[in-house]
Amino acid sequence: MKITDVKCAIIGQNPVVRITTDEGIDGFGQAESTKPYLKPHVLFYKQWLLGADPTNVERVMLRIRRMGSFKPWGSAVSAIEMALWDIAGKAAGLPVYKLLGGKVRDKVRVYNGSVRFPMNGYTPEDYAENMAKMKASPENFSIIKQGIGFHSPMPSRVPNFFYGDVESGAPHSNRGLLTERGLKHVIACVEAMKDVLGDEVGLALDCGPGWMPTDVIRLARALEPLNIMWLEDTINGDYNPYVLADVYRDITMSTSTPIHTGEQIYLRHNFKELIERQAVNIIGPDPADVGGIAELKWIAEYADLHGILMAPHGTFDGLIGLAALVHAAAVMPQNYIAFEYPTGKPEWWYDIVEGLPNPIVKDSLIEVWDRPGLGVTFKVEAARQYLAEEDKDFFD
Ligand SMILES: [Mg+2]
Repeated sequence: MKITDVKCAIIGQNPVVRITTDEGIDGFGQAESTKPYLKPHVLFYKQWLLGADPTNVERVMLRIRRMGSFKPWGSAVSAIEMALWDIAGKAAGLPVYKLLGGKVRDKVRVYNGSVRFPMNGYTPEDYAENMAKMKASPENFSIIKQGIGFHSPMPSRVPNFFYGDVESGAPHSNRGLLTERGLKHVIACVEAMKDVLGDEVGLALDCGPGWMPTDVIRLARALEPLNIMWLEDTINGDYNPYVLADVYRDITMSTSTPIHTGEQIYLRHNFKELIERQAVNIIGPDPADVGGIAELKWIAEYADLHGILMAPHGTFDGLIGLAALVHAAAVMPQNYIAFEYPTGKPEWWYDIVEGLPNPIVKDSLIEVWDRPGLGVTFKVEAARQYLAEEDKDFFD
């Protein structure tokens, strides 16, 4: 089998990759909805993919994997990897999880980082009210993540929050030392959310990047009695092209509150120091940024050898990305906690694909399906209407 074409269309906001072959089998992959600018980057790799046998996924990836980087520049490589697995599975008549070694679990746990309700403000009362809505959502999530601190509008909306100047611009522009009032505000908001959740639902906190290490240690220690699931991306994280494993290790050694990072990190090589030095307790690579499904499985296995847990990122990965997450989660070792459940946005995404269970999530779990490849495919005639003029031949 040979690759005959590599295409990319922006459907809604998600870049979607389609790889075609000389045997009539095609495969799909998807990148985050936050990256509608990615199409030229996907097409950049086409020159090295044409003519290769897509069922030798690893051999094809050796051609392009090193030509990527931290988020957002590992996304195109990652979406291509998903599409290769989709083809390999369809060609073998097997679900992708079988090609990755077989499933460890029949149902995969997800956490809520995507089913959101508008915030009325950023006081403890607002956080409690919002958390009550998420707790009541029909997916019955067993873990809910909320943004606080520098991963929220607090720097601009809470007066005297930190000692820096409030910046606007690219995501996560604010960084600095918190005032005592700012730190107390964060803690009060977390306590208000825990009052709503009790010990029925786990609370994870997306915090940054932007924190100073001393503040993280104070926050983590103050929250120890609350048994928080994890503190994500404090000193570093989303969209920062570096790791800072040594600084993370200092924080992790200073508290019993689990410390989490990794959604922006590309490839196993860049997790090496974080894992080998046991610099954090939980890592969250995203299959749509880290280099793909098999890359994520490799990292999960290596993390397990070092006592590190897995809670992969995924909120913007869309419904093809959801399929990739389900297959990856099915094959991870028992250090797997849950992945961040992505929703289809706009809502019509649910009308243009088939293969997902209905409802998708029951009691915070998704049943692993057995359709060949990723098992989620386009209803081509329904999907065509959402193609931009320049992408009209995407399904041809
Ligand atoms: Mg995050």
